[in-house]
Amino acid sequence: MKVEVINPHGFCAGVKSALAKVEDLRDVYCLHQLVHSEIVIGRLKERGFRFVETLEDVPEGSRVVFSAHGVSPAVREAAKRRSLDVIDATCPFVAKVHRAVADFAAKGLAVVVVGRRGHAEVEGIVGEAENVYVYPDLPEARRIGVVSQTTLNSDEVADIVAELSGKYEVETMAEVCYATKERQDAVRSFRGDALLVLGSPGSSNTRRLCEVAPCRAFMAATLDEIRAIDFSSVGVLGVTSGASTPESFFNDALSLLKYGIIGEISNKQTVSNIE
Ligand code: SF4
Repeated sequence: MKVEVINPHGFCAGVKSALAKVEDLRDVYCLHQLVHSEIVIGRLKERGFRFVETLEDVPEGSRVVFSAHGVSPAVREAAKRRSLDVIDATCPFVAKVHRAVADFAAKGLAVVVVGRRGHAEVEGIVGEAENVYVYPDLPEARRIGVVSQTTLNSDEVADIVAELSGKYEVETMAEVCYATKERQDAVRSFRGDALLVLGSPGSSNTRRLCEVAPCRAFMAATLDEIRAIDFSSVGVLGVTSGASTPESFFNDALSLLKYGIIGEISNKQTVSNIE
C-alpha cells in the first residue's frame, strides 16, 4: 500500500492560538472542551484542567477558560457576575461570525445560522442576538443576514445560501474558515483508493473531511483504531488530519502505516521530516 500525505494537516491557526493562551495554565476550569481532540484534552487534564459544561460548575472567583468555539454574551455576563477570571481562547474566525451576527442584528435583520444545533460554536453564535434562527428554522421576513458554523462542508453551506437567496433578500457572511476550506479542497482533489482522517469523532471539521472524500474514508483517533482498519484492498491511501489533531499523533500514525503495513510515504515527506 502506498501512503500519500494530504496537506495541510495538524493544528490550524485557531487551535494554535487557543493552546498558546493556555500554555502556562494549570489547575483551571475550562468551559467545554478547549478543542475537540481527546489527545489534547487528555494532556490538559494531566495539567489539572477541569472541563465543565456550565459556569454553574465553576466556583466564584475562579479562573476559567472559554474554549475555541466561543461563548454567547450571556455567558460572558454570567462570568462577570461570578467574578470569574476569564481567559478567552475563542478562535478569531469564530469571533468574526459573532461580530457579523451583532452587525446584522444592529441593522434590524433576522439572522439565519447555517450550523448544527447543539454544537458549542452554534450555541454561542445563536446567543449573540435576539432574532436568530438555526437552519432549517427560518424567520418570517423579507431580508435576512446569514452566517455559518466555521467547520461545515463548504459546498453544503454554498447550497443553503443559494436556497435562501431564492426566498429572501440575503446579506451573507456565511463561509467556513480558511482551515476547513483548505483541507476540504485538498481532500476533494485526492485521487487514491481510500482516505484516513486522523481526529476525534467529536471534531466537526474532522467528520466533514470524511464526508467530502471522493473515495472510502476512515476516521481514527487512536493507533488502535488504525490497527483495527482493514486496508487490504487499498492500493493508495491518503492520510490527513482534523484541525485539532496533534502532529505527534500524525507522525505516530504514519510510522505505524509505514512499518506496520507494507508501504512507502510519498508527497515529498518522510516520517522523519514531518514535525
Ligand atoms: Fe478556528 Fe477554523 Fe481552526 Fe475552528 S477549524 S479553530 S474556526 S481556524
